[in-house]
This record gives sequence, structure tokens and C-alpha cells, in this order.
Amino acid sequence: MNCPFCGHEDTQVKDSRSTEDGAAIRRRRVCGGCAQRFTTIERVQLRELVVTKMDGRRVPFDRDKLARSIRIALRKRPVEEDRQERIVNGLVRQLEASGEAEISSSRIGELAMDALHSIDGVAYVRFASVYRDFREVEAFSKLLTAMRPGEEGGLLPPPGEHEKDKGTKK
Ligand SMILES: [Zn+2]
Repeated sequence: MNCPFCGHEDTQVKDSRSTEDGAAIRRRRVCGGCAQRFTTIERVQLRELVVTKMDGRRVPFDRDKLARSIRIALRKRPVEEDRQERIVNGLVRQLEASGEAEISSSRIGELAMDALHSIDGVAYVRFASVYRDFREVEAFSKLLTAMRPGEEGGLLPPPGEHEKDKGTKK
């Protein structure tokens, strides 16, 4: 594993531990060249999944990309990191269990929205607003209204508001 900072080939594992749900192993590493520290995560991959995009392109399923979008949707929401990890694990398992070799990006989006819907309404709307095509903006505003009648606009933080929130942990 090359150092992501300087490219040095000699990195040393300082510490290995399972994530709380036992689905992955985190290894703390230190670079022998620049002494920077970083973490690698090892997890089981049952199948190679291919995602078909709206424009017809086929790309390998990117777990990190899915995890990132889930994390962004849940930013500053009262959902712990371990739980976020479990949400992503659950989604990946669902995808793998589907038996399909190819999965459309819209299907992944729907599954993620389903998962978020039962966990955090705000995260759900955030995710939906990014994921859904802007052509559906009308349907989206109806969705907002349906979720919290009489409180549209209360779901999303005002611009800039979340920046000054407490707890600026990365
Ligand atoms: Zn380095």
C-alpha cells in the first residue's frame, strides 16, 4: 500500500481493529517516508457489481461514492458514524443479494432513499434533492409539503446555517 501523501512504498501497519459491526477491518498505517498517518479499510466483496447510468454508461459500483452521498445527506444529523456505516453496509448487501450483475443508478438511489426515509427525514429530503433530476423539481416540492405539512422550508438548513453549527469534526 503506497503512501497517499508522498507515494512511498513502505508503509507500516500500526493498529488493526474490526469495525463495531464486524463487517470491516480498519488499519492505521504510518508512512516510512513522510511519517504521515492514514487508515485503510478492508471489507468483504461478494460480487463485482456494475452500475448502469442514465446515459447508458456502465461503471463499476463504487461503495465509497455511495457512502459519501449518504454521509453528506446525514451531515450534522443525529445519526452516529457507526450507524451510517451500517446503513451503507445494508445497502450494499441488498444490492449484492439482488442477484443482478448490473444495477441501474436510479435503483441504487431509490434503495438509498428508502433506507434514509426510515432513519432521518431531513437526510432523506437532502438526498432526494441531490439525487432526483431537477426536472422533477415540482414533484420534489410536493414531496416536501407531503412530509411536513405547513412546514416547507423548515426541513433544509438555511444557506450557510449548517457551517457555523457546533461539532466541526470532519
Ligand atoms: Zn508518505
